[in-house]
Amino acid sequence: MTESWVDIPDGSDFPLHNLPYGVFSRPDAPVRIGPAEDRRVGVAIGSYVLDLAALADAGVGLPHGHEFAQPSLNPFLAIGRHAWSEVRDRLLELLSDRSRQDAVRPHLIPLDQVRLHLPVEVGDYVDFYSSRNHAENVGRLFRPDSPALPPNWLHLPIGYHGRAGTVVVSGTPVVRPSGQRRPPGATEPVFGPSTRLDIEAEVAFVVGVPSRLGEPVPADDFDRHVFGVVLLNDWSARDIQAWEYQPLGPFLGKSFATSISPWVVPLDALRQAWVTPPAPELPQLPYLHEEYATGLDLELEIGWNGTVVSRPPFRTMYWTAGQQLAHLTVNGATVRTGDLYASGTVSGPERDQRGSFLELSWNGSEPVTLGDGSTRTFLEDGDTVTIRAKAPGEGGIPVGFGEVTGTIMAAVR
Ligand code: CA
Repeated sequence: MTESWVDIPDGSDFPLHNLPYGVFSRPDAPVRIGPAEDRRVGVAIGSYVLDLAALADAGVGLPHGHEFAQPSLNPFLAIGRHAWSEVRDRLLELLSDRSRQDAVRPHLIPLDQVRLHLPVEVGDYVDFYSSRNHAENVGRLFRPDSPALPPNWLHLPIGYHGRAGTVVVSGTPVVRPSGQRRPPGATEPVFGPSTRLDIEAEVAFVVGVPSRLGEPVPADDFDRHVFGVVLLNDWSARDIQAWEYQPLGPFLGKSFATSISPWVVPLDALRQAWVTPPAPELPQLPYLHEEYATGLDLELEIGWNGTVVSRPPFRTMYWTAGQQLAHLTVNGATVRTGDLYASGTVSGPERDQRGSFLELSWNGSEPVTLGDGSTRTFLEDGDTVTIRAKAPGEGGIPVGFGEVTGTIMAAVR
């Protein structure tokens, strides 16, 4: 197992064998043309970001400098796996070979001196519903007189097309949405700020290489198209959602904001994390079969104003990322560079593994106690939610995802 000459603190999310990609700027550096022009691609290592555009200019044999001097990862992601591997291999070499540190070190910038931006220009955004525990919990809460799972759930990964334009980077404030809701027992709807604002802790997959119109992507071509993984918080206004969702699904209850973590962890950093998902309960149609299972052993952690309230295990997801990709293209629909598709809320079987506050508070009937002694059912103005995750990594050193965080602002009056 190789080590880096970079001083990496114990327990860092960003050991040598992670090297997640992001887009950063330096607010204190002189602005050249405009704020967007100052954005560029880097990888995180320890407490630093390595400026890849500058490093490519330094003559150390790092290819694709042009793609790194860009305000999004899209140009680099579009090239494909040969380039992703070539750059990763070169970076691993440069960051472990001590004889290269004089050439590389000038391009390491402390993370606390950079601003992180949305890493990709998001194309289409799809959200799935692939945790059986979550789907059963929501079924019991929203449709108590029906079976917990709808009849299609065990046959296909249910999903919907979301709103790409309101995907925001971690740290962006979330304004409490207003909308129509029908209070319990009422016959007519009322209008106003959501009173049941919630989160959904999810994992999302970033598409690099596009597919062709009319040509389904086989499940086992997953790693030819997908570049990497981010954390996602699908903010959800439950009162707006409950009134609007039938018969066409989520709309304004979710489209106001979706937050993602700024670092895209490449699939190449997750080789120790692949797992087989739970055995299917019913036979699955051939297009959903995977030769190589794409379940992932990620442990999520949800912090509510600093108190960890849940640790959802991603390995319990019933449908995998490869199956989701096969399903979303099986009708010939394309995926494009920068597309994002999310897993759906990650909930395990235990109470402290639930990935939404709807489930954690059991629709408001079982309040959650925070570290300061206060209790919560849904989000209050000023509340901050932070989702983190770790995966098994090379040499027994876990790979971290950084965080996706957001604070609730009062509704616009
Ligand atoms: Ca969701």
